[in-house]
Formats: sequence, C-alpha cells, structure tokens
Amino acid sequence: MANAHRHDGARASAGDLGFDAIIIGAGFSGLYQLYSLRERLQLSVRVLERAADVGGTWYWNRYPGARCDSESYSYSFSFSEHLEQEWNWSERYPAQPEIMRYLRHVAERFDLRRDIDFNTEVVSARFDEGRGRWLVTTACDRVFSATYLITAVGCLSATNVPTIDGLEDFRGQWYHTGNWPPAGVDFHGRRVGQIGTGSTGIQAAPVIAAQAAHLYVFQRTPNFSIPARNAPLAPQAQAEIKQNYAEIRRIMRQSTNGHPFLLSPQSALEVTPEERRARYEAAWQHGGLRFRATFRDLLTDRRANDTAADFIREKIRDIVVDPAIAERLMPRDHPFAAKRPPIDTDYFETFNRDNVTLVDLRTLPIERITPSGIKTAGAEYPLDIIVFATGFDAMTGPLLGFDLRGRGGRALRDVWAVGPKTYLGLQIAGFPNLFTITGPGSPSVLCNMPVPIEQHVEWITDCIGFMRAHDLAFIEATEDAMARWGTEVAAAAATLLPEAASSWYLGANVPGKPRVFMPYPGGMAHYRGLCDQVAANAYAGFRLSAG
Ligand code: NAP
Repeated sequence: MANAHRHDGARASAGDLGFDAIIIGAGFSGLYQLYSLRERLQLSVRVLERAADVGGTWYWNRYPGARCDSESYSYSFSFSEHLEQEWNWSERYPAQPEIMRYLRHVAERFDLRRDIDFNTEVVSARFDEGRGRWLVTTACDRVFSATYLITAVGCLSATNVPTIDGLEDFRGQWYHTGNWPPAGVDFHGRRVGQIGTGSTGIQAAPVIAAQAAHLYVFQRTPNFSIPARNAPLAPQAQAEIKQNYAEIRRIMRQSTNGHPFLLSPQSALEVTPEERRARYEAAWQHGGLRFRATFRDLLTDRRANDTAADFIREKIRDIVVDPAIAERLMPRDHPFAAKRPPIDTDYFETFNRDNVTLVDLRTLPIERITPSGIKTAGAEYPLDIIVFATGFDAMTGPLLGFDLRGRGGRALRDVWAVGPKTYLGLQIAGFPNLFTITGPGSPSVLCNMPVPIEQHVEWITDCIGFMRAHDLAFIEATEDAMARWGTEVAAAAATLLPEAASSWYLGANVPGKPRVFMPYPGGMAHYRGLCDQVAANAYAGFRLSAG
C-alpha cells in the first residue's frame, strides 16, 4: 500500500486506509479515472476491483463470440495521442481477448496497477458525516476511507440469471455468459441449450453451433440484427485511421451516440422507395451499427422505423431457408433499434444448420429445468450444458449490488425504491462527494462507451480540481436539480425507445424492477454541452460547501 496516507492521511483514522479518492472498478472508466486524478490532480487514489485483473465487463464476458459492436479504433481512449498511435487494432471489431490486451497495455503503459487492489470486492460504502469521509468495506473486512468515492462499476456487470424452477437439480453444467469460466467451455459432442437472443446470444449461437453436437436456441423475443461484416484491419487502413485520428475524434464528439459517423439529415419518408431500399441495402452490405444512422427519424417516427424493420424482416426471409423458422425469427413486437440493436456474424444463417433447433418460447414457454434438460409446455429437450445469455440487471444493478449509504445512513436501495434518480447521472442528492461514472440518467449505454466514460471522468476530475482550488470540501446534487433532471430524461425519452416493452433500458427484463427509462436519450453531444454549462456556471444544481 505504497501511497496510503500520502495526502489525506491526517484525516484518516488509525483503523482504516485513507486516500483522497476510492474508485470502485478497474474497467475503462476506473482506469482512466485513476490516471486522471493521479496525474492531473496528484491525488492519492486506490482502485478496488473484484476481478483478478483489469477489464471490467470485458473481464467477465469471455463467452464464445464475445466481441464489441463499436469499431475497434473508436472503442478506445482518446486522451493520449501516443497511445492512439502505438496501439494496432487487428480487426474491424475487437474480440474480447484483444480488448483485454488493450486494457492491460493501458494499465502497464501508465503504471496504473500499483494503485489497484484486485480480488477486492466492495460490500459496503457509507458516508461518515462526523468525519466527512466515505468508509468503504471489502469482503475481506478491510476498511478504506476517502474524501471522494467514485463508482466505475459499469452498466452491464450484474448478471441476470432468471429464476426457473429446477435449475438446482440440473445434472449438466450451466453458465451465464457474463460470468464465463476463464478456461472456457468445451462444447464438442455436447447438447447445448442457449436461453436468450439479445446481443450476447446472437454472438454466441453461431460459435457454439459450430462446435456442439446440437444447439437448441430458446427464444422468447425475436430480435433485429444487422451483419457486422467483421474483417481484419489491413495495415493501410490502420495507417489511415492513425493519420486521421483528430478528425475521427471530432466526429465522435459531435455525434449523437459517440460513434465515428453522423446521423443522416434525411427522413426515411422523404426519399423514393427505390432510393430508400438502395440506402438500406448499402448499409446492410457495409454492416454494423451505422445501419441505424441511415435516416434521421428511425427512432422518432414509427412509419420511418417500419421501413427499416420491413427491410430487415425481408433479409431474414431471404437468409433462413425454412420459411416457418424465418417467420419465428422475425421481430414484430418492437420497433427496430428500440432495443439495443445487435450486430452479428452468421446469426440467421445458423438456423440453416442441421444441428440447430429454434425453440419458440412465445407459444410454448419454459415450464421447468429437469435433471436432464429443459422442459417447455411443448416438449422436453435433453441437454448437457445450459448457457444463460439472459443479460443483466443493467445500470442500477451494479450500484445496488453493495450496501451504499449516504447522509443519515440512508440506503441507495431505499432512495431508488421506485427507480433511479440522479442529477446528470453523475450525483445523487444525499450522497456528498459520490460520483457515479455513466450512472443512470446519463447517455452511457446508448453510446459507444469510451466516449461517455471519458466525458464523465474529465468532468469529475475538473470538478474535484475546482473544489480543491476553491477550498471546497463537499459537493452534492440538490433535490431540485435531481427532480428537474428526471423530468428532462423522461421528456427526452419521448421517442420510440420505450416501445420495446421487454427492454433492459426500462429495467423490464428483471422481475420486480421499477420501469423507468434509465439512460438519457437526448444525445451525447447535447449532454456534453449541458454538463459543460453546469460547470461553467459554478456547478449550478450542486451544493458546494467548505465543510
Ligand atoms: P439482453 O439484451 O437483455 O438479452 C437477454 C435475452 O435473454 C433476451 O433475449 C431475453 O428475452 C432473454 N431472456 C431473459 N430472461 C429470460 C427467461 N426467463 N426466459 C427466456 N428468455 C429470457 O442481454 P444481452 O444479450 O446480454 O445484452 C445486453 C447488452 O449488453 C446489449 O444490449 C449490449 O448493450 C451489451 N452487449 C454488447 C455486445 C457488443 O458490444 N457486441 C455484446 C453483448 C452484449 P426477452 O427479450 O423476451 O426479455
């Protein structure tokens, strides 16, 4: 613990390890927050990470086919030009092992590991009003104290294993994709049941099917998916990206979702049907999330959205040989991209394989898991392995996964009993000096994640720098500002997004979770402007005090 007590030691008591800041999590956000506070503000910082290595969500999500849906060169830090220039991405979309190599490289290049405790799970954090400090306790009963507590816990890190009767009696193996065994799983010769057809299931199914004796895909809701068209990044493409990084980053900062492309200014309804089809076809051939940007109104006008949805359904019909299976794979209950749109490699093609069966749970739901497989209302499927690709208790799950208490010992679980409330997704009234990187109420998961992460980290660093320059001890969002922001998030969500009734954006995938649209859908560039204004306006909406 080399730098414990380096700065704030005088205010830490003998029984705890005192720092200026504690950061929970060593994924993209924790690593950059550590770097920023240490290098820009010279604070003493400790990062507490439950995993054995850096990586955050990428550490745990090592399931077959795990790959990012942002283009590799954009799914990276922009804060260091040297880092940008020295790192070579090998493919259009980075696979999980490559992202891990990148984050390990970042950790080593900036000498971050010395300030991280791995295998260290935080079980509680409470604000000690007497001392004006956060007390953070780990599963091994170590206690840390800090002036600032920063959660860098990710939005998709609390796994959601549905309660299905009989799981405890299953004699085979079962795994959740978000907590995959480090040594991998051998599917050869095995009968595998995969539950879930979100982004994860859509990536995993083709890879599992290529190995397994038989794969049963248990589908509750069919999903739209666009071909990724992954390919190696040729040296010349890499060189061009590196030459143009400044411009690429400029576009990313200007864009709605932090991707290196802008939304078309045109409506899907203002072009001829031939022109529209040609645009969709070009976007389909190009592949990836850019498809969503083909027209500006795909998420705001149902008739515009229907044109994209019809096009994708037609593609499913073309790809899947058996028309009855194609029909069952066609989403009809939600607008295209109202759920986070997956991108895939040979997903629909997988259902043309002899060793793959689509089990449609809409008509015949799962009744129970038996010792030897899964029993639906229609049949029993004998299985050796069950893969739960059933997603996450998103956004709030990671923050409610430990006992977080603010002023007066109030638990975040109680404050958020009817849904998350924050100011700008950055702070919660009653929790002074707690910052939540990409918290609910910020654009976060609607974006290419490194962009909102960098923006939050830089805002938080500037804010703490401002406080120290002005001898301010505490910052806390006001109730008023939080209420106003809640109204603004709800207003911005007046799009087609909430129409996907089972979406995790709404918390609808977790039984009993309050239905609140959690991310801020007003656009990343707009949001950045709002945060900058708040800072320029002496942190309007926050109460700052000298203690
Ligand atoms: P998800 O989108 O929440 O999908 C979960 C799937 O499991 C859905 O098909 C859901 O069906 C099904 N499911 C859940 N409970 C079930 C039950 N009791 N019985 C039957 N089916 C059940 O989760 P995800 O696929 O892990 O993706 C979550 C997010 O992670 C993505 O949206 C994306 O943001 C991120 N992600 C990104 C990438 C990437 O970068 N390429 C890859 C993977 C994940 P219903 O729809 O009917 O609820």
